[in-house]
Amino acid sequence: MAFRDVVNQDHAVMLLRAAARSGKVGHAYLLVGPAGVGRRALALAFAQLLNCARADGDACGDCVSCRKIVSGSHPDVRILDVARGQYLEAPGKEHRGKEIPVDQIRALRREAAFPPYEGKWKVFVIADAERMNPSSANSLLKILEEPPARVVFLLVAESSVALPPTVVSRCQLVRCAFLRADQIERALVDRWQIAPDRARVLAVLADGRLGRALEWAASEERLEARDRLLDLLPTLEGSDPLTRLDAAEALSRQPDLLPELLDLAVLWYRDLLVWKQLPEPALLTNRDRQTQIEALAPRFSETTLGARIEAVEAAKESLRRNVNARLALEKLFLSFQDAPAPATSP
Ligand SMILES: [Zn+2]
Repeated sequence: MAFRDVVNQDHAVMLLRAAARSGKVGHAYLLVGPAGVGRRALALAFAQLLNCARADGDACGDCVSCRKIVSGSHPDVRILDVARGQYLEAPGKEHRGKEIPVDQIRALRREAAFPPYEGKWKVFVIADAERMNPSSANSLLKILEEPPARVVFLLVAESSVALPPTVVSRCQLVRCAFLRADQIERALVDRWQIAPDRARVLAVLADGRLGRALEWAASEERLEARDRLLDLLPTLEGSDPLTRLDAAEALSRQPDLLPELLDLAVLWYRDLLVWKQLPEPALLTNRDRQTQIEALAPRFSETTLGARIEAVEAAKESLRRNVNARLALEKLFLSFQDAPAPATSP
């Protein structure tokens, strides 16, 4: 995971590379930005570059040090990521993985007191730094105030607002931005060899986060759920209410996927609407479903499609407000009343 593997975070990459090149490496960096845009990749790429045996503006990705960092076995590159169960020392029994407990920061301080073991720099990555409770943050502050030589702390967070200003002021800020859908699409095709039609759907679904697109790409379960949903939606039109209630019940059994599935439903109706207005394949998100879209679009009025999109948006909002998923879906599907016109020859 060298900087060349980080997709479209040019500003952040420039800043970190310049620090490494000039030798003026800060004691602490705060990588802020939305989850899934490549913050962790940036942190690891920086750790690699600092320790690479054959660095040339970027890490080589191939030396012993680079390999060890990628595999997580480099003794000087330590990652604290409670959400992924990566700890610096075994967590206490009562620890539930939501907060970064102070004993982890104490362990970090003990380790940081020793010079790098085999690398040039010791790097500590603290993922979700906003999960530090006040005592953890205070403990970290102590070492940030008197940082040991050859040690770099990389804090990763959604925003600097959730961290104590005393901690933030000790860090150099590195901002990571959302990616555009076309940047994600290109990366999926070029770097992950994902088929263009699928990449297009994933890129829109990713909502600016490459990580989210990759999560979907790697999950058969999610892709199957998408296929089932897109097969289901047209069958609900004009079906009896009982069928629609059953569909709501079935769909509510995937609560984790539901927000994203509803995003997909919006994109689906949007595609139908787009096709009615301008039947141009390049404008479709669900390009792999063009035949179906072509057949269905004439059966809907623009008003009906607008109503579908609004109803799905309302269901999304209900979920955000913690309304029971099944109730929200029932309401959504029961609103599918004004059945589209039956298929007629033009
Ligand atoms: Zn290397």
